[in-house]
Amino acid sequence: MEVKLNLLIFSTVLQCLLVLCVAQDFDFFYFVQQWPGTYCDTDQSCCYPTYGKPASDFGIHGLWPNYNDGSYPFNCDSSNPFDESQISDLVSRMQEHWPSLSCPSSNGTTFWSHEWNKHGTCSESVLNQHAYFKLALDLKDNLGILQILQGAGIQPDDGSYSLSSLKDAIKGEIGATPYIECSTDSSGNSQLYQIYVCVDTSGSNVIECPVTPSGKCSSSIVFPSF
Ligand code: AMP
Ligand code: AMP
Repeated sequence: MEVKLNLLIFSTVLQCLLVLCVAQDFDFFYFVQQWPGTYCDTDQSCCYPTYGKPASDFGIHGLWPNYNDGSYPFNCDSSNPFDESQISDLVSRMQEHWPSLSCPSSNGTTFWSHEWNKHGTCSESVLNQHAYFKLALDLKDNLGILQILQGAGIQPDDGSYSLSSLKDAIKGEIGATPYIECSTDSSGNSQLYQIYVCVDTSGSNVIECPVTPSGKCSSSIVFPSF
């Protein structure tokens, strides 16, 4: 009787531990969008995709599982590599919204594969490959960051805008503070590079970021044309 009870307790504890392990895969996502004009300006050697110049819009960089302490898991499952056949119905949206800008020109597969293998495999307990890429595309559509900025009079026109005006405009619409990453242009100005929005582990809710990357923009930043 006592042995049975002990076994029961042991297996219950084991199950709880297993659930905890799965649940603690990661704490939240950074959803990161990138301004192509700044990627091209910063890296100087950007190359447009083989299928043509991307629209003047933010592109997706990635959906990155992260821990609350600021560190992040990566390359979590080499047995589940990127497989484009699983997302064939998403490819035309991917080409439009997740363009590769590195050189030489490519159709995007290498960039998407890098993002899945490095980051996507770390949230595979929640999202399979199709769900992972679809979530990123849907987040981009639903957030509508460029439209939000334009609605606040903030345009990609090589003009300077206060960092707080960008943050306030986005926070006012999505209900959470974005983290803005800047780079330095050839004249030494701080320019808008990437916008990070935090999303809970289910992928359904935008949340305040538990932690933000380090790095600072000036109080006034350039929004380059593209
Ligand atoms: P790059 O696109 O080369 O500018 O890379 C973006 C930077 O963000 C690199 O330094 C990455 O190491 C870093 N990075 C990538 N994933 C994460 C993450 N989940 N959390 C914080 N930093 C990250
Ligand atoms: P990650 O490892 O996810 O932090 O991404 C960083 C890597 O992605 C770096 O090697 C960057 O050069 C690359 N990268 C960032 N943006 C793009 C882009 N639009 N197209 C292709 N590669 C990119």
